[in-house]
Amino acid sequence: MERKDITQYAQIVGSETIARLKKKAEKIKGKRILHVNSTKSGGGVAEILNNMIPLFHSLGIEMDWEVISGDEGFFDITKDFHNMLQGEMKPFTAEHRSIYLDNLKKQTIDFSSYDLVVIHDAQPAALISLCEKKCPWIWRCHVDLTRPNPGLLDFLKKYIVKYDKMIISMPTYSIGIIPEVIIPPSIDPLTEKNKELSPVLIDLLLKRYQVPTDLPLVTQISRFDKWKDPLGVIDAYRLAKKEMPCRLILMGNTSIDDPEGTAILDEVRKSVSDDPDITIITYDNDLLANTLQTISSVVLQKSTREGFGLTVSEALWKATPVIGGDVGGIPLQINEGETGFLVRSVEECAARIKHILKNPSLGRKIGEAGKDHVRRNFLITRHMEDYLDLFNELL
Ligand code: UDP
Repeated sequence: MERKDITQYAQIVGSETIARLKKKAEKIKGKRILHVNSTKSGGGVAEILNNMIPLFHSLGIEMDWEVISGDEGFFDITKDFHNMLQGEMKPFTAEHRSIYLDNLKKQTIDFSSYDLVVIHDAQPAALISLCEKKCPWIWRCHVDLTRPNPGLLDFLKKYIVKYDKMIISMPTYSIGIIPEVIIPPSIDPLTEKNKELSPVLIDLLLKRYQVPTDLPLVTQISRFDKWKDPLGVIDAYRLAKKEMPCRLILMGNTSIDDPEGTAILDEVRKSVSDDPDITIITYDNDLLANTLQTISSVVLQKSTREGFGLTVSEALWKATPVIGGDVGGIPLQINEGETGFLVRSVEECAARIKHILKNPSLGRKIGEAGKDHVRRNFLITRHMEDYLDLFNELL
């Protein structure tokens, strides 16, 4: 894992914040903490762990990261879990239960030397019952829990009650069965994804990846997932384009724990057909994502469910105006009309795209306000401090 130095973040958040982090870390030095999730790359959870763990190392904290393995059937089932926790009302079946537990029984993670365990999302959640629990365990749920499928939630509750604490991103996700703490996610301002890029590098990346820049760009960067509504994005773009010439960029990657991505990408390709004004990008490249978030006139995150939506804060951090679905964690980041716009339909989204494209100064004002909002609330140092407070409480 890459080495990082927490003191470099003083240039952004001030040296007092860094001093506070160091002081809080001092109390838990020597303790061993383990994170467990279901993918090393792709999606927000892996993004956060990749960013955060080296910074905890730089604070002198021993922190490891294990990824569970599973066969194809397992990830089909856990993607169902993800969808059902976000509100899909299909039945929770005996097959769900057996494939899930059979795969988790095969995991070989050794928990014995850790002082604290953080389990991310539903995929590894039942591990708590399948191994000897010798220290505090935290369940960190990243998904939009506004209206979970009751069948699945009842099943998972049997495991959740064994945890010492549950972390959620916002109060409306509370399920109220164990002590909960609200910790919204964050972005790392110094990574390739988020650092300030020189105009020369931006030009180079645009040329290398053949991104057209003759018209204003409207961009969504997201896994190809139905809750990210890529087809709705295409419809909204087509409506807006009738009045305001622009191009649409859809950038998306895949993740081992998301087996539905390829099918959704196929649907997107079919819908785009041979429209020359829509570009689909499937390279995984943080500098390119950064470039697109920096130069686009509007970034969309037109989700219909969204645990948090790192892409919103990522774009706002580049002072780019964002139009987001009025769901889940997006309204935490977008104060309507001030740090972005919230939409509930294709038509509203199209109207807001046109509104921003017609008023570039409004776009800049909203982007700047959004950047300030992210600086105050959604940078990695705030996230780490929340974790340190929790670790200090539990250790
Ligand atoms: N992402 C990326 N390339 C892509 C699509 C997404 O790097 O082609 C990143 C995106 O920049 C963000 C993360 O993947 O950092 C997605 O996190 P988010 O919270 O937005 O959504 P999730 O995938 O976790 O539902």
